[in-house]
Amino acid sequence: MSRGIAPQLESSFDRDAALALVRDLVRIPSVTGTERALAQHCASVLRAAGADVVDLDLFDDRGNVLAIFTGTTPGPTIVIAGHLDVVGVDGFAEHWGDDPRRDPFGAVVHEGAIWGRGVGDLKGGIAAAISAVRTVLASGTGLAGTIIFALVSDEETREGMGRSAGIKRLLPRLREHCPKADLAIYVEPTKLDIYVAQIGFYVADVTITGKSAYFSKAELGVDALKAGVRALELLWGHDETLRARGTHPLLGPRFLLPTTAQAGGLIAVPGECKISLIAAALPGDELDDAKTELEDLLRNVSEMDGITVDITYSSARDHNIGGSPAEVSPDLDILQPLAAAAAEVRIGTGAMAGAPYWSESPFFLNQLQTPTVYFGPGDISNCHTFDEHVDVDEYLDAVAILAGYLLSVCGRA
Ligand SMILES: [Zn+2]
Repeated sequence: MSRGIAPQLESSFDRDAALALVRDLVRIPSVTGTERALAQHCASVLRAAGADVVDLDLFDDRGNVLAIFTGTTPGPTIVIAGHLDVVGVDGFAEHWGDDPRRDPFGAVVHEGAIWGRGVGDLKGGIAAAISAVRTVLASGTGLAGTIIFALVSDEETREGMGRSAGIKRLLPRLREHCPKADLAIYVEPTKLDIYVAQIGFYVADVTITGKSAYFSKAELGVDALKAGVRALELLWGHDETLRARGTHPLLGPRFLLPTTAQAGGLIAVPGECKISLIAAALPGDELDDAKTELEDLLRNVSEMDGITVDITYSSARDHNIGGSPAEVSPDLDILQPLAAAAAEVRIGTGAMAGAPYWSESPFFLNQLQTPTVYFGPGDISNCHTFDEHVDVDEYLDAVAILAGYLLSVCGRA
């Protein structure tokens, strides 16, 4: 149930402009690798909103935006972060047929929601944050402190991409302008709750090599499939061990999930077996330790006669084998006004929770020592699907919450 924006912001809150902005952002396609046009558009919107510095960094067909709103008196520094890219749209038109939602970049408003690729993940969050700053500035309140937008390419996972190239490029520039911020809000969809923790993860591809041989001369071969079955048993056993190590109150247990197993294909002894897996780590865990454990475990396989095991890691993010877990205390002072603003605007929101996904908060947390949370409109369970949408009311409430928050921490009477 929405109670609307704080009374002192009511007259400066332009709902039509806020709705137009999110629809504009959705209408600019930005599938990973093609974020340039969206970066250019966001830079011009932020410039028009009154940002003092707008650093548009274009590279390949992509781009990052760093925009800074500097206050007239000292105060906290709040970073609004988000990724510009969206996942692909194959099959969208076929799925929807004649329905108005068939265009993934149409941004249609249908039955009270905005539909389209990226509206939840996470153009709704970017548009809400920009609209919030516009609302606060238009109210005549001066800024105490600094609000920084850090919008980056290359967060989503796509063939050969999605390695956080954008944020890796932006961090040194951000560090130059702002060595340490008080809080970063990464505007991933949270249904207006505040995600203070996330799992870490790594993806490993295991290649087990034996020796192929004609089926009736099997004794001349070394069966890689048999070794693969042994590996799978060990991996599933390790999953149980990890789960037994305890549970994080917001994130659940650690785990390891084999996701692919492939071997053979000829009428012959299978000479090769490939296994892929994803594993989750909890805050406090080191991915280096998880890697050592996996490699020790699979040594039981590589020590089998005639078998070799090769392990590669294909999902380097802030760590060379994956993405680190992250956590900030829900009791941080700088977070309390965000929870309060959410509860004031919409009953039942602003709860401190764990993220059911991995995103780029560890870059800010570990490399800039900036506490980072996720907050935004939208529900991750419909993101990356044909049903991606955000309710108009929820989106407008996200603007109201962020505006109320920025007013309370960076507003100058
Ligand atoms: Zn996202």
